[in-house]
Amino acid sequence: MTEKKLAAVTGGNRGIGFQICRDLAREGFKVILTSRDLKKGQDAAEKLKDEGLDVKFYQLDIISIDGIENFYQTILNDFGKLDVLINNAAILPEPISSGLSAELQEIKKTMETNVYGTIVLCQKFIPLMIKNNYGRIVNLSSGLGQLKEMGGGYFAYRVSKTALHAVTKIFASETSHYDIQINCVDPGWVKTDMGGSGATSTPEEGAVTPVWLSSRPKGEPSGMFYKDRKIIDW
Ligand code: NAP
Repeated sequence: MTEKKLAAVTGGNRGIGFQICRDLAREGFKVILTSRDLKKGQDAAEKLKDEGLDVKFYQLDIISIDGIENFYQTILNDFGKLDVLINNAAILPEPISSGLSAELQEIKKTMETNVYGTIVLCQKFIPLMIKNNYGRIVNLSSGLGQLKEMGGGYFAYRVSKTALHAVTKIFASETSHYDIQINCVDPGWVKTDMGGSGATSTPEEGAVTPVWLSSRPKGEPSGMFYKDRKIIDW
């Protein structure tokens, strides 16, 4: 029997992350559903296990550097590899601020969650992926971070997602000699706590491209920004 590919998802307890966990497990991955909240994460993982899916819960708050280190050591001890990392967890701070009024504290908090947590996770797991010469990393971004369409408002969130684009391209460039693909995805406007009830897509639709990018064959693009399974401008 071939060994299952192992995928970890941050912020897997709800929204798009939860649906990504479900769809990856349906595709045959062993899924590590992570959540910063113990109870919420356990409940989410139980729900998927009740659907007959191969899902395991680990607690992970991505703003905790010690937490990321512990998570890395646990994955290393338990599995010795990580094939897929989905950097999904993020915050969209309130109030939705303009550049002129955004509080520095709010910007720092957003960067800490949406960018620094992802950087540290990549720094831990990319060397392991290099060792195994295999990895797929998907960073959940947003059209609000797209420079081509950049407008006002959502200051901290926009800046964090644009920074995530740079991070993605840099890590992709530094891993280009391996079978490692690191890409960003705009999932669209999705009905979740973050997207709100007026959003136009379902979490199922939002999960399609991240899940698709998780198992692209060798030689497919790395360091790109995708929407609806197509490369879009940064
Ligand atoms: P969501 O429903 O608000 O869920 C966000 C998830 O991130 C939750 O599981 C939350 O955990 C987790 N999280 C936040 N801070 C965390 C931390 N420090 N450590 C660990 N987990 C943390 O958001 P979503 O709509 O599913 O969004 C998922 C991704 O898609 C995000 O990267 C978002 O920026 C992106 N996106 C969403 C939309 C949209 O319309 N929904 C559009 C474009 C991009 P708790 O439950 O503990 O809070």
